Amino acid sequence: GEWLGMLGGGQLGRMAVHAAQALGYRVAVIDPDKHSPAGAAADEHLQAGYDDAHALSQLASRCAAASTEFENVPASSLERLAQDIDVAPAGAAVAVCQDRAAEKAQFAKAGVPCAPHAVLRTAADCAAVDAALLPGILKTARMGYDGKGQRRVADAAELTSAFAELGNVPCVLEALLPLAAELSVIVARGRDGQIVSLPVQRNWHVGGILATTAVPASGIAPALQVQAQQQAQAIAAAFEYVGVLCIEFFVLQDGRLLANEMAPRPHNSGHYSIDACSHSQFELQVRAMAQLPLPQPRLHSPAFMLNLLGDLWFDAQGQRREPDWSAVLALPGAHLHLYGKTDPRPGRKMGHLTVTGASADEARAQALQAAQVLGLPQDGLV
Ligand code: ATP
Ligand code: MG
Ligand code: MG
Repeated sequence: GEWLGMLGGGQLGRMAVHAAQALGYRVAVIDPDKHSPAGAAADEHLQAGYDDAHALSQLASRCAAASTEFENVPASSLERLAQDIDVAPAGAAVAVCQDRAAEKAQFAKAGVPCAPHAVLRTAADCAAVDAALLPGILKTARMGYDGKGQRRVADAAELTSAFAELGNVPCVLEALLPLAAELSVIVARGRDGQIVSLPVQRNWHVGGILATTAVPASGIAPALQVQAQQQAQAIAAAFEYVGVLCIEFFVLQDGRLLANEMAPRPHNSGHYSIDACSHSQFELQVRAMAQLPLPQPRLHSPAFMLNLLGDLWFDAQGQRREPDWSAVLALPGAHLHLYGKTDPRPGRKMGHLTVTGASADEARAQALQAAQVLGLPQDGLV
């Protein structure tokens, strides 16, 4: 069969490899890590940096199309591949998502509101900042994830020292907003402009890292969910995005919806779609890159997704242990996904558990039991 290429060897790439193989493709992955999760699942692992000219030319000569699972892959690597093969998303689109300032400008172009903010490039910019943005959250414009590269700042003095602590690099300061809920929407857009989306996801974070996703988005008014889907589609269409795109949203306590950030790839909050939807976010990614038809995914079961972080692999004394998978798998709605990572660390994403049910109440009850068995936080479940 035909080959597809993937830049990046993490768990997102691994699940995309599985989806591509199910559709009959063989997959080549570029990743520098010898033991990368996607490299191990791929038909060929090109062990090299994402900007390695030789690996990129091997990928381009073998594959019909390529995508990325890692948002900080150099845009120039995607552009290099696009000289020879179909690439979705395009390097220019990924570049927008790599920079919070560009990302917010893109939201504005699509007519979608986001948090009041300022772009700070120098210490002098910090001194001149509008007091209405404080207290705020200072975020590095590039490279942050899982709450890394951010500092909460109460006043101008804290802002100045946080800017230095983050390395005097370009940052975005956002007003600290009173959040009522967090949502995300995943869309897939084809080269012909056709666009489909997964149902709205409700997300809970613990320590800056996604802990739980619920679908349907419990407690969120249907009209607001429709608005989030329309805004996500408007953002994708406004920069002629091709591929899978995730938009994170805040719901404020006054009911307003604001776009937070976006990811040019499948997203942790969409993992439930493997077990709960007619088509997963990874199948949509494969179809979009291979220019296959894009079906509108349908949720067939209410679901709760629980992230499994490396913390679970250590007992209270800090000794390595294996979580009790057999107790979890005794719950009828439990679907376990482990990424094949051999070195657990606190905060590291090792796997996820999707709990489906005939009703949202049933899924919640079983997810609660699973969380108790594993010793997971119950945010979002109670
Ligand atoms: P991700 O892992 O999702 O890429 P990230 O490190 O890029 O995360 P953000 O999504 O910008 O960071 O922020 C992480 C979390 O911090 C948000 O999900 C939200 O809970 C909180 N947060 C971020 N910005 C604000 C804000 N302006 N006001 C209130 N809370 C915020
Ligand atoms: Mg982010
Ligand atoms: Mg985020």
